[in-house]
Amino acid sequence: MSYRNPRESKSRPFPWPCADCYTLTVVPTVMDYTAKVKHDGVIYELLIPSLEVPRCQTCGETYTTNAVDEQVSDALRSRLHLLTPAQIRKGIEKLGLKQQALAERLGVAPETISRWVNGALIQSRAMDNLLRLFFALPEVREALQGASQDPELGIEVDQKAKDPCPPRLAASAWRRLDVRRVISQRQEFALLRPFDPVGKN
Ligand SMILES: [Zn+2]
Repeated sequence: MSYRNPRESKSRPFPWPCADCYTLTVVPTVMDYTAKVKHDGVIYELLIPSLEVPRCQTCGETYTTNAVDEQVSDALRSRLHLLTPAQIRKGIEKLGLKQQALAERLGVAPETISRWVNGALIQSRAMDNLLRLFFALPEVREALQGASQDPELGIEVDQKAKDPCPPRLAASAWRRLDVRRVISQRQEFALLRPFDPVGKN
């Protein structure tokens, strides 16, 4: 396991004392680092190659720092295809929103947004989906209005939304239908031929 050194400070010079074997031999070491992290209740094992980690040269104990945490978080976001802090910040900026306003419209605490943006917290899959919908779809932004949101929103299912064939897929779906029609006509023809009384007989 990795220790978090309580006396960690950016200015504190190496070597650090090891909390395990008490030698003064903890120095930055480039190594393939394995971290176990929990997200949405599932534990993921991540391998981060060539990561600089404070490591005891005597007993091999490793130490977690903010820089290590950041690399581990980046690896987890990348593994799970979650929006990065930079992507979230960009989305908020593009919409010209204050973090406070976004928080109100999504229904989360303003501190939560600021922690997503500064990388201190990784959003859940559900919140990642909500952010993506909010950034990508004007209809979603129109619907999620915070305090002035329509209290009836979502109580009834929009019948238009029941169409399982989104417009972008319509053309290819029609082509597939066409192919099926041709195949079934051929099968019909093949089936009919032997019994065709006005055929070769
Ligand atoms: Zn040690």
